[in-house]
Parts: sequence; C-alpha cells; structure tokens
Amino acid sequence: MSKTAVITGGTRGIGLETVRLFAENGYHVVFYGSRKETVDKALAQLDGLEVEGKWTDLTDEEAIRRDFRQIAETRGSLDVLINNAGISDRQPFLDYDLERFDRIMRLNVTAPYVCSQAAAVIMKDQGHGVILNTSSMVGTYGQPAGVAYPVSKWAVNGMTKSLARELGPFNIRVNAVAPGVTATDMVRALPEEMVERISQGIPLRRVGEPSDIAHAFLFLASDEAGYITGAILPVDGATQV
Ligand code: NAD
Repeated sequence: MSKTAVITGGTRGIGLETVRLFAENGYHVVFYGSRKETVDKALAQLDGLEVEGKWTDLTDEEAIRRDFRQIAETRGSLDVLINNAGISDRQPFLDYDLERFDRIMRLNVTAPYVCSQAAAVIMKDQGHGVILNTSSMVGTYGQPAGVAYPVSKWAVNGMTKSLARELGPFNIRVNAVAPGVTATDMVRALPEEMVERISQGIPLRRVGEPSDIAHAFLFLASDEAGYITGAILPVDGATQV
C-alpha cells in the first residue's frame, strides 16, 4: 500500500499545493480544513488524486486521536504528518488582547502539539514516522506587529527541535520548513507594485511560490532525508529583514 500523509491546513495556499504534490508523488493524502465548504472546494481542485478531506477541530484531542487511529487502521500506517494550518496577524501590540493572542496560539501551537502527539503514538508503534511543521522566517527575525504570530512560530521551532530529540530513538524524524513571503491568496491580493518592492529586497528577487515550500516538505518526508531531524529549513530566497 502507498504511504499515507496527513496534512493540516490543506484547503488553500501552501497546504493545498503540498497535498497536490504528495498525492502526485504516490502518497495517499488525508488533509484537514476548518470547514466542510472549504474542504469540498479543495477536493474539487484535486479531482483525480488519491486524497480525502476532513474538518475535525485540530485542538480536539479525542477526535484527532480517533481520526488518526482510524486512518492508520484503514491504511496500514500513518507515515507523515505535516502541521501546516496557521493564521498570521498584524495587530499592534498596544491594541492587543488576550483573546486574539490565545486564538493564534491555539491554532499555531496547540494544534501541532495535539496532532503530533496523536501521530507519534501510532508512529512509535509502527516503528517509523516523519513529523513536519510549518514555521516562518518570523521565527528568526520576529515582526514589528502581530506579536502572537512570531511567538507562535518560535514555539513551533522549539517543538520541532525538542520532539526531534525525544522521538528520534523511536525512528521518528521531526523537522520544520520556514517559508519567507510566499505567494498565497494574501500576497496575491497585494498591489503589484508592493509585491515588486518586496521582491527587490529578496536576494533571489522574487517571493516564494507554494510549490517551493511543498517541494521542501516532499524532500524532508523522503527516505533521502533519513538522517535529517531537528532541522528548521529556511525556504525564503535568503530574505533578511
Ligand atoms: P492560508 O491562509 O492560505 O491557508 C491556511 C490554512 O489553514 C487553510 O487551509 C485553512 O483551512 C487552515 N486554517 C485556518 N484557520 C483554521 C482553523 N481555525 N482550524 C483549522 N484550519 C485552519 O495560509 P498559507 O499562507 O498557505 O499558510 C500556511 C502556513 O504557512 C501557515 O502555518 C503560515 O503561518 C505559514 N507561512 C506562510 C507564509 C506566507 O507568506 N504565505 C510565510 C511563512 C509561513
């Protein structure tokens, strides 16, 4: 049977491209979105590929454990988990409130924690597994507003490095990809001049494409990356801010 990858935040942007690339490369992919409507919309764009969509709350421990167990039982294994769902933020710190902080931390940090634990139980039993996280260049540089977002990505980096050490003895590798500015809907909605100005500040003179990030995930999931764990791979054209 083909390998199975679970990908969160798979309905658009980086996640959707990653779902597509993994499915095109022989994985059976189960992806998650926040709502049935967005999952259905993504499924329509993935027509003909071996994919399934779910919209379980990623922070519901019991439901996620049940889902992952069922996936592993049906498929024979759960080989790869990609914690990709995430929200960013731009709110100035002096206008920040705890509700906003908690909401961002819950999706960007608590969800990867819940999903990684649910996957790791299965991966330990089967004797192998790969967990990949979506970090960000803000996990290196911080950003001048929207404090919860860089805080959350720093936490993702910490989780990546710590779980790599703790789960390595069970043959579970844990890595992260840290995208720079990537042309998802949010960036595509910006005026062309602004994207051009951003691009001029990047040594490779362009923003990243979702497929740049998806290929990094595909490599890190592969056996060729078998001795790589605890790494946070920048995919940002050497952006420095
Ligand atoms: P996007 O907004 O296009 O997609 C986000 C995905 O997360 C969607 O599939 C959505 O369904 C899911 N999601 C959002 N809220 C959710 C919720 N409450 N519950 C479950 N799922 C939810 O974003 P993107 O730009 O593709 O970003 C994907 C990841 O890449 C994020 O972790 C983001 O922080 C990271 N990232 C993006 C960029 C960029 O420039 N686009 C740069 C660095 C890092």
